[in-house]
Amino acid sequence: MASYSLIIDGKKVATEHYFDVMNPASGEVVGACPQASDEQLDDAVTAANRAFKSWSAVPDAERQAAVNKIAEVLVQNSAELAELLTREQGKPLKGLGSEFELEGCIGWTQATAALSLPVKIIEETEESTIEQHRKPIGVVGSIAPWNWPLMIGIWHIIPAIRSGCTVVMKPSSLTPLSSIRMVELFNEVLPAGVLNIVTGGGSIGRRMATHEGIQKIVFTGSTPTGKNIMENASATLKRLTLELGGNDAGIVLPDANVPAIIEKLFWGSFINSGQTCAALKRLYVHEDIHDQVCEGLTAMATQMPMGDGLDENNIFGPVQNQAQFDYVRELVDDAKAQGGRVLCGGEPGEGLFYPLTLIADVSDGCRIVDEEQFGPVLPIIKYTDIDDAIRRANDCENGLGGSIWTSDLEKGKQLSMRLECGTAWVNKHAIVQPNVPFGGVKASGFGVEFAEEGLAEYTSIQIVSIDKN
Ligand code: NAD
Repeated sequence: MASYSLIIDGKKVATEHYFDVMNPASGEVVGACPQASDEQLDDAVTAANRAFKSWSAVPDAERQAAVNKIAEVLVQNSAELAELLTREQGKPLKGLGSEFELEGCIGWTQATAALSLPVKIIEETEESTIEQHRKPIGVVGSIAPWNWPLMIGIWHIIPAIRSGCTVVMKPSSLTPLSSIRMVELFNEVLPAGVLNIVTGGGSIGRRMATHEGIQKIVFTGSTPTGKNIMENASATLKRLTLELGGNDAGIVLPDANVPAIIEKLFWGSFINSGQTCAALKRLYVHEDIHDQVCEGLTAMATQMPMGDGLDENNIFGPVQNQAQFDYVRELVDDAKAQGGRVLCGGEPGEGLFYPLTLIADVSDGCRIVDEEQFGPVLPIIKYTDIDDAIRRANDCENGLGGSIWTSDLEKGKQLSMRLECGTAWVNKHAIVQPNVPFGGVKASGFGVEFAEEGLAEYTSIQIVSIDKN
C-alpha cells in the first residue's frame, strides 16, 4: 500500500500517525495518509512566511512563468493524477470525471497565468500622482472539500501563487492523496515553502482559521463549516473567501424547447453525481411541459452506465462517502413517504452506489426540495405561475446559482436577474469558466473566484499618493 508524506518547505515530511483513505467503489484502501500534528502545521506556516518574503518580491513575469510551468507539469502527469483521483474520489475516469477534472485544472492554470493586476493610475496632474497598487496578502490557507479535490485545489492555490502569496493547503481527509501528489509535483518547479500541504481532518482546519501566521483563508465546503471558520478567523482579522453550499433552482418555462434542453438539464444536475456545489438541485417545470421533461430526463438517466470508475465504460461512479450516501438515502426515503413519485432509481444499490434518481410530485416543504442533497437525485416540481416559481426559487437560504430555461432569450434574461444568486444562467446550468467571476450570495458565502476579480482577492490595495510640489 502506498504511503504519502506532508510537503513542508519543499521537503517530504513523515508523521507519527497515518489514516487509511478508501476507494468508495470497492472499499479497498488506496493509501495511507499522514495526519499532520499542530507542530507540523506551525512548521508549514513558518516555511510559507519565510518563502513569502522572496516570492512576493520576484518580478511578476517570473511568477507567471512558474504558473505556466505548473500547467506543463499537470499536462505531463494528468494520467497518473486522474487515476489516483478516481481511486480515492470514486468519479469515473471518463464522462465528466477525473480526466475532465484534470483538463479543467490545466485550463484554469493556464488562464490564471495569463491574468494580471496592473497598476491603476487614479490621478496624474502637474501637482499630483495617485496610483493604486495590488500587493499580495501573505500566507493563504486553503481548505478544500472532497467533491472536486484537484480542481478546487487549483482554484485556491494558483491565483494565490500567481499574485505573490504563499500557501498552506489542507485537502479533505476523504480525498487527500491526489492533492498530496499534485503538490509534490508542483514543488519540483516552485521554490521551497511557496506551496505546502498538511493533511488531516477538521481540527487542522480549525487551527488554520485561528493561526496568527495565516493572513487569508480560502474555503470551499459546507455552510456550517464556513460559519465556524469565519468565527475562528475573527480574532486575527483574516481575509476570507467562502464558497459554501448551494441549493440551485432551475425554472423551465412553457415555451422551452424540451428536446434541445434535456441533455443540458441532465448534466447540469447530475454532473459528478450531483456532488457539485452549483449543480441544479431543484427543477421547477411548468405544468404544460412537465410530463415531457420528466420523460426526457428519465430516458437519459436510465441509460447511464454506473460502476467502478476505473472501468472506462462507466460514466457514473459511487457516492463518495458513507455519510453522504446515508444522507441521500434519507432524503429520498422521506420524499417517498411524502408522496413523491419515483421516476427512476430510488433504491440504494450495492456498497456506495446510489442509482440516478428522479422524483416527481414533490414540492417545497419536502426535505429533498428544501435541503441540499449533494447526490444523484433530482426533485422535479410542477408549477403554474412564473412569479410563484421565482418566489419559491428564492425562498432558500442559499444563493449560489440559478437558471431559467426558455426559447425567449430576452424574457429569460429578465427573469434570471430576479433570481437571488451569484450566477444566473439561461438555458444552461453549472457552467463555470476561468474568465468569469464565480461566487455565492446569502448563505452560499462571499467573495469570488476566477478572472481578475478572483485574483484581486489574494491582494490588498496600496495607494501611492505623491505631491509633486
Ligand atoms: P465540509 O465543510 O465538511 O469540509 C470541507 C473542508 O473543511 C474539509 O477539508 C474539512 O476537513 C474542513 N473542515 C471541517 N470542519 C472544519 C472547521 N471547523 N474549520 C476548518 N476546516 C474544517 O464540506 P464537504 O462535505 O467536504 O463538502 C461538501 C459541501 O461543500 C457542500 O455543502 C457543497 O455545496 C459545498 N461546496 C461548495 C462549493 C462552492 O464553490 N460554493 C464547491 C464545492 C463544494
